[in-house]
Amino acid sequence: MLTPNLCYANLKESYLFRHIAGKTEAYLKAHPGARLYRMGIGDVSLPLVPAVIQALHAAVDEQAEKNSFHGYMPECGAPFLRETIAEYYQQRGVSLSADEVFVSSGASDELGDLLDLFDRKNRALIMEPAYPAYVDANIMAGREILHLPSGPENHFLPMPDEHLQADLIYLCSPNNPTGAAFSREQLSRWVRWANERGALILFDAAYEAFIDEENLPHSIFEIPGARTCAIEICSLSKTAGFTGTRLGYTVIPKELERSGLSLNAMWVRNRTTKTNGVSYILQRGGAAVFTVEGQHQIRENIMVYKENARVLMKALDEAGARYWGGKNAPYLWMECPDRMDSWAFFDRLLNEIQVVGTPGAGFGSCGEGFFRFSTFGNPDDTREAAARLLKLLKP
Ligand code: PLP
Repeated sequence: MLTPNLCYANLKESYLFRHIAGKTEAYLKAHPGARLYRMGIGDVSLPLVPAVIQALHAAVDEQAEKNSFHGYMPECGAPFLRETIAEYYQQRGVSLSADEVFVSSGASDELGDLLDLFDRKNRALIMEPAYPAYVDANIMAGREILHLPSGPENHFLPMPDEHLQADLIYLCSPNNPTGAAFSREQLSRWVRWANERGALILFDAAYEAFIDEENLPHSIFEIPGARTCAIEICSLSKTAGFTGTRLGYTVIPKELERSGLSLNAMWVRNRTTKTNGVSYILQRGGAAVFTVEGQHQIRENIMVYKENARVLMKALDEAGARYWGGKNAPYLWMECPDRMDSWAFFDRLLNEIQVVGTPGAGFGSCGEGFFRFSTFGNPDDTREAAARLLKLLKP
């Protein structure tokens, strides 16, 4: 008889967004016609930019003609997109060869699939609070998980010390949910720590495009030594509104070797076995993101989200609330007032001012006592939510 992967029995029920939806539905049922201000979801609200739409249409037309039709794409990505992404890194002073860039269907897919490269016996260290997929993907793989707590005492940016032992480390910067971003010096310490132990950093850079401060690194490969200890996972979801279109990329340097095996070569072998590549049409759309016009247009969208963040930060400042993020990330991470737990604060915001956010407890135990606001919503709703928050929180 077939034995399923019994590790799935160790997964906690993923109830966060379902629970939020259940509570908001119940509220609307009890208050028909009530207007809610949704600051919870991590999905974007602005459509794809014109440069991308144009490229997608042109690629669809190419697929209609015998002479320009494309069948299977190379499994690791179309050369035109791999080269374009390598040039994007070069603009920041990071030299990559195109075959170190792998085109993907998004960061979530990669965060799960990449685990194929590592032995089950490796211990995974996850900085917390964390994007829940890191924990769940490792539970599914049967791996031991160590939690690296963070909090106000380290500004939600935990640092390694000589006692810390792990093989696989998840770092997310700028961070979801806290919005905190590592400095160059802090990332250098992680790189040094990983190289000294032969550990590997999985660096989630899904929010790099939201970094405003000049000196903060957008990529771990801006740090000397990272090419021998890091893989970077990136996404066009939040950068360019590809959440429903699906496109991302992963960087695996050629120098990255363990036990005499090249992780880059292993990933080529994995992709050529397990995928037939991302569609030609989507890759053309993705390449348009990196043109001068595309970069200008996505920047305009990001500025709308940044203005939402500014409006919210102003309200929280005036209310005297303690919060992190907002500057280099599309999330604000607020300490719940009066030591309230995060679900109690959720209920209070919903019932008293009709604002819906995300309780920090959904991001692991370190998130308890905190609350996440997303800035991806509509500007009018964000302004109204900010005004209501100020009124509620102001002493
Ligand atoms: N990594 C982080 C930190 C995220 O917050 C998200 C999505 O919210 C992802 C990865 C997944 O991105 P994608 O849409 O590319 O799968």
